[in-house]
Amino acid sequence: MSTKEMYRSLGIREELYELGEEVLQELKPRFDKIDETAEVNQLKILRAFHKERVSEACLYGTKGYGYNDIGRDTLERVYADVFKTEDALVRPQITCGTHALSLAIFSNLRPGDELLSAAGKPYDTLEEVIGIRESRGSLKEYGISYAQADLKSDGSFDFDSIRENINKRTKLVTIQRSKGYQTRRSFGVKDIAETISFIRSVKKDVRIMVDNCYGEFVEREEPSEYGADMVVGSLIKNPGGGLAPIGGYICGTKECVENAAYRLTSPGLGKEVGASLGVLPEFYQGFFLSPVVTAAALKGAIFAANIYERLGYDVLPNGKEERHDIIQAVTFNDPKSLISFCRAIQAAAPVDSFVAPEPWDMPGYDSEVIMAAGNFVSGSSIELSADGPLRPPYSVYFQGGLTFPHVKYAILNSVEYLMRDRDT
Ligand SMILES: *Cc1c(COP(=O)(O)O)cnc(C)c1O
Repeated sequence: MSTKEMYRSLGIREELYELGEEVLQELKPRFDKIDETAEVNQLKILRAFHKERVSEACLYGTKGYGYNDIGRDTLERVYADVFKTEDALVRPQITCGTHALSLAIFSNLRPGDELLSAAGKPYDTLEEVIGIRESRGSLKEYGISYAQADLKSDGSFDFDSIRENINKRTKLVTIQRSKGYQTRRSFGVKDIAETISFIRSVKKDVRIMVDNCYGEFVEREEPSEYGADMVVGSLIKNPGGGLAPIGGYICGTKECVENAAYRLTSPGLGKEVGASLGVLPEFYQGFFLSPVVTAAALKGAIFAANIYERLGYDVLPNGKEERHDIIQAVTFNDPKSLISFCRAIQAAAPVDSFVAPEPWDMPGYDSEVIMAAGNFVSGSSIELSADGPLRPPYSVYFQGGLTFPHVKYAILNSVEYLMRDRDT
């Protein structure tokens, strides 16, 4: 069977397949660059596995208290090597990205201190951690205040505002690498490095943390190589490589990571406890695969941007821009197309392909939301997933994809659905 026939057997008309091939031809040089980045990051990870002598015994795991869990402790050294930090906390007891960030922030601040966001409004879920939105157990309840240096209108860091917002009480500055689901641009490691130097020039001993979610292995270097005291993220995004079933990481200075460990478990216990149960094989293997998986997701996002740009839609980032994370937005200006897109992504999923997503009133949102996710790991967004609120401008945000052929097919399928639904 030819490739074209294979696509046809999965519902993709020939002209669409041809369009895909044409776009891919143009993207070849760019995809080669992405492969080079993946190659460097793959070797970086392999080198860390060798240096820390990862062995079969590291994969066994422990139960109970988890004392002397050599697999867990070795994996944390591997992460520290890869992110070039003194120490790391990589645990299944960290339940998600928000938990990892919350843990890093709470454990490194004390009542009376102030947190500063240097990159404007933080990720939605952090609003409740900080207390921007009233919530139980927020930093605000503990007497920890918050300041925010908004970005300039062109989306870049506002150094004047950062300087003005740093005071005697400023103890921790947070920088979010990826735009998440905002419309600003995402920051490259170089932008972040400059901002870190600037912050240090204003206040030398302040702690600096980077929300690294969705940014890992998109570039050759990580913000921790440029003076960030902590980089923080989720294992059901890039560094879990699609295999980790849960977890989060904090890589950073010994002091910051120990603070986090004593809060995650207990004062006095810190990193010594925390059984890894059965997750270590997936943590190791997922981390090992993550540069190549991240590259697949990145290629998928770029492919989609170029296809949809050709069809006349607004896309963010655009088809040509340099990428700093794996998120892609497409604006439909029409609810019907947004729904068609999500249904097509779902129909292309390996799991639950036969269900049709419906818009629903999700708690915490002011309009209905539609989501597509036919994942092996529930909620994983390194696997291909899409969602969008049912309100103008009817944009969908999507990310992930464990293999490029899967994303390619899913995107072609989305165009197929748009065409079909438009014609009916
Ligand atoms: C996903 C994400 C988070 C939160 O992670 P969850 O695992 O969804 O809690 C925080 N910040 C950014 C930039 C993210 O992309």
